Amino acid sequence: LERPIHEAVLGNAADFGDTPALIDGTNGMTVTYAQLDTFHRRIAAYLAAAGLRKGDVLALHSPNTIAYPAVFYGATRAGATVTTIHPLSTADEFAKQLGDSAARWIVTVSPFLDVARRAAELAGGVEEIYVCDQAEGHTSVLDMLGSTAPEPEIAFDPAEDIAVLPYSSGTTGTPKGVMLTHRSIATNLEQLRPFVPLGERDRILAVLPFFHIYGLTALMNGPLRYGATVVVLPRFDLAQFLETIQTHRITGLYVAPPIVLALAKHPLVGDYDLSSLEYIVSAAAPLDAELAAACSTRLGVPAVRQAYGMTELSPGTHVVPLDAENPPPGAVGKLLPGTEMRIVALTDPGIDVAPGTDGEILIRGPQVMKGYLGRPDATAAMIDPDGWLHTGDVGRVDADGWLYVVDRVKELIKYKGYQVAPADLEALLLTHAGIADAAVIGVHDADGNEVPKAYLVRQPDAGDLTEEDVLTYVAERVSPYKKVRQAEFIEAVPRAVSGKILRRELRDREKQ
Ligand code: ATP
Ligand code: MG
Repeated sequence: LERPIHEAVLGNAADFGDTPALIDGTNGMTVTYAQLDTFHRRIAAYLAAAGLRKGDVLALHSPNTIAYPAVFYGATRAGATVTTIHPLSTADEFAKQLGDSAARWIVTVSPFLDVARRAAELAGGVEEIYVCDQAEGHTSVLDMLGSTAPEPEIAFDPAEDIAVLPYSSGTTGTPKGVMLTHRSIATNLEQLRPFVPLGERDRILAVLPFFHIYGLTALMNGPLRYGATVVVLPRFDLAQFLETIQTHRITGLYVAPPIVLALAKHPLVGDYDLSSLEYIVSAAAPLDAELAAACSTRLGVPAVRQAYGMTELSPGTHVVPLDAENPPPGAVGKLLPGTEMRIVALTDPGIDVAPGTDGEILIRGPQVMKGYLGRPDATAAMIDPDGWLHTGDVGRVDADGWLYVVDRVKELIKYKGYQVAPADLEALLLTHAGIADAAVIGVHDADGNEVPKAYLVRQPDAGDLTEEDVLTYVAERVSPYKKVRQAEFIEAVPRAVSGKILRRELRDREKQ
């Protein structure tokens, strides 16, 4: 465990030799493990010779490509802290992250070079902008592969040195830089190992972005550590996604609920041979048990298994073991070894609630972040003096230790003193054949009560489904206090790339 992450992940890469580490799903280009090993060492050597010093922040601004891991681990091997940037950030957003993290180096791709240049100008302090592919006037990562500079010899302190500085998704507010040490990430990989085993015969499809902690762990760190093959797609397009599963005989998918939804409901799915799939893991947002079951039945995949975590937890705390027999529907998993959990009353974090009762999930363990960069107040609000991280999520645990996540504390709708979880209503709405997608928020009605309002996307062949139909459908199936009281049809539910519903965008829409 006392190894920096490039050692923890790629320490055995050379042994996997000609096994493909990465395959570009769009054109079949391949990077073998032997190449990945050499490439990331050459990149480290180049960066060190170019003046990158231990602790420098390098901003990696790229969609998923087969070059991404070599750059990422090359940078950490050179001693850098990598801050991963959303490839579709605007120059302003990018500049904020550059400024906040005091990044000195950027690695981007030519289609996004202009944004990177503008961001660097706005933020100041950037030494050099490199590209992964080719662009006039910029050194390419490909050129770095020819570097003859000596490999840097950096003394790491895995417990203290920040390996990655991802920014939280910003689902609930301004994104914050999350300081994750080499140790917290390597430890979490180790904790996950027995429950999500990976090996040379696994072929994983990487469509969720590497820049987000879920993609980083599930699609990059884990698979590459154990010799699996990662097939890379730069963005989610359902037809291309299905085609890639078929062509590359993908065995495992790590996705978010909207993809499970598409797999369960979309007509296109029937046109492809997806028989190679052995399992699907879903995380990042609430997944309804019926939807999960519908997906596994339709695809003939034994199970859709959940996992739970957050950026601040490197990221995992719970997973449904892939070999668990009949895990209870809806469970997000069991607590990983070496991790402690409490479920405390929403009204008083000093009181532990009984099993089966909803409360806020608190976590303590080696995967807890070091803190938010430059935000001691935000850090103190999140991690209490005893080291418990307050997740802001509502959950309950059953007598067998399975955790169920209800929703975020802040998203609960308080209807006349009752608490209603939007995620429950969204799941129910999705069971309606005429509804393709749904999001629920609390709005204020004419009497000033907070009530659930649904935003709905019609299934293409839904006919004349009305607001009234939907309200009745829900009213027939829930306790009166949970009724959806308003509904509106929209084109698409606003979502972050990680699959989370951006409820604050719906709230803004409501205000206007
Ligand atoms: P921000 O903190 O910036 O508002 P965010 O919380 O969405 O953004 P992430 O760290 O990407 O940023 O997401 C973690 C959150 O995702 C958890 O706190 C939880 O609300 C949700 N989540 C993760 N896994 C699950 C799951 N299996 N079921 C339900 N919710 C989940
Ligand atoms: Mg969060």
